[in-house]
Amino acid sequence: MLLRELTEIYEQVRATSSTREKIALVADLLRKTPSELLPQVCYMLRGRLFPDYSAQELQIGWSSLWDAVCSIVHISDDDLKAAYNRFGDLGSAIELVVTEKPKITVSLVSEPLTVEECYSALVKIATLGGKDSTRRKRAILTGLLNQSTPAEAKFIVKTITGDMRYGFKHSLLEEAIAQAFSVDVDVLRKAYMVRSDIGEVAQLAKEEPAKLKELTIVLGRPLRPMLADTAENLEEGFRRFDTALFEYKYDGARLSMHKRNERVTVFTREADEVSQSLPEIVADIRKIPHSFIVDSEIIPFEHSPKAFQELIKRLRRKYRVDEFARKIPVKVYVFDLLYLDGETLFDKPLLARRKLLQTLIEPSEHVEIANYVLTKSAAEARIMFQEALDLGYEGLMIKNPQSYYTPGKRGSEWLKLKPEAETLDLVVIAVEYGHGKRAHQLSDYTFATRDREDNLTPIVKAFSGLKDAEIAEMTEYFKGIAREQRGRTLIVEPRVVVEVKFDEIQKSSLYESGYALRFPRIKRIRWDLSVDEIDTIETVERIFKRQKRVA
Ligand code: AMP
Repeated sequence: MLLRELTEIYEQVRATSSTREKIALVADLLRKTPSELLPQVCYMLRGRLFPDYSAQELQIGWSSLWDAVCSIVHISDDDLKAAYNRFGDLGSAIELVVTEKPKITVSLVSEPLTVEECYSALVKIATLGGKDSTRRKRAILTGLLNQSTPAEAKFIVKTITGDMRYGFKHSLLEEAIAQAFSVDVDVLRKAYMVRSDIGEVAQLAKEEPAKLKELTIVLGRPLRPMLADTAENLEEGFRRFDTALFEYKYDGARLSMHKRNERVTVFTREADEVSQSLPEIVADIRKIPHSFIVDSEIIPFEHSPKAFQELIKRLRRKYRVDEFARKIPVKVYVFDLLYLDGETLFDKPLLARRKLLQTLIEPSEHVEIANYVLTKSAAEARIMFQEALDLGYEGLMIKNPQSYYTPGKRGSEWLKLKPEAETLDLVVIAVEYGHGKRAHQLSDYTFATRDREDNLTPIVKAFSGLKDAEIAEMTEYFKGIAREQRGRTLIVEPRVVVEVKFDEIQKSSLYESGYALRFPRIKRIRWDLSVDEIDTIETVERIFKRQKRVA
């Protein structure tokens, strides 16, 4: 299949604002796609190379991309910067320069690029490791770009940066697959929930659609976690659900733990396997009979919950694991059961899953079941909220006891309630050198939210509220992902997501988003969130309206 067929559809989908048309265009493409290529095409349509259960990323630095472009066309650094500034997007900048500038070497291959060639070259870039890998990755990329048309070069670079910007969300891809192969979209969505692999599901939809209903969870393959919305206040829980289930909101990291016979695998929210760094947890889980998947939160704990930052020193640690296990004790609170001895439990109500969980896990030194309170009484819930804060937890989770488990979805079945000022998860798009003792540190950050067209749009600038050591560490990190320097400001790849606290949202013409945050403070860096998961302008507007109502 020619890459051109894919990029043409990409452009057409980008050009139309009609959702129906977008879906029809992609459905048509999928119908024409040979079965064995369907997974790859599905991943690439999402700006990815691998299924969601894979933690593998396409790692190529910004400077390698930049160098690759400079080595295929005659262009000065300044001209490339100017093109980049015009679009704010490297893919479109590259399309322009490859169209306008003469090539340095004529490509030896005159055949048009195929999807297969492009995909396998990108996979090679993603998986090459070891000495000299940067140079080899760059060489593969240069070859690929040299062989591609301007529109293809743009698509390739967008796939690499994951910055597709064509208003084609995952849910639309699901609808397109359902339409292409005439299968029920709900059946397809459920199949995707248990497999975390849209490519596999698309292929099955084409080949053996009847089997979609039979798909089951693969133990040891990470699932996408169910997500929570923000509750305005305690009463909201009662307004939404007649009786609500309350749990403490533990301030740590999400872990899903899979046990198959004797084998235990532990994954973070980003599908990274961290079993190796948590030997005491693995040992406790191994003692529990049965095969299962539980959902949980891990926190640093020594007599009481400790600061979240401590946890970072434990997760993903490969060396001196035992020493750090002693230094930084942790506890896991299990709050959900998703699979038990061959049965997927997504469609069982939360309360039933909780009851089963209670029969499965015997609390141990490092693994406990999260307590829950089921109540209709706001007074009782308020006491629990105060208790949570007194004990050092972050707040409460309010859950619908009748709700099903929906992997990857942020819905209103789970609500989080925190005490303090509002927070938003925003992505850093620019960083600036500070003043005085911070003159050599990148300490001022500009944050963006996502607008309705899926573009990143600035909303606030804040001095870093991080500790000195963290600022120094982040300064180095930001230098590594800098796209461009403008005076004392570095424009960076939108990778670092930060939880920003603020007192109020105001309308403002200062930023393109049309809003600004009053008294912003950085709460913490959210390494567990990707740029796809930041809060959008809809959330900003919702908080703004709510504040106006309250005021
Ligand atoms: P947030 O990350 O602020 O959107 O809040 C949701 C996160 O809270 C989940 O992804 C979990 O990592 C964490 N969490 C802590 N306690 C619980 C709980 N009892 N139930 C569900 N999630 C929890």
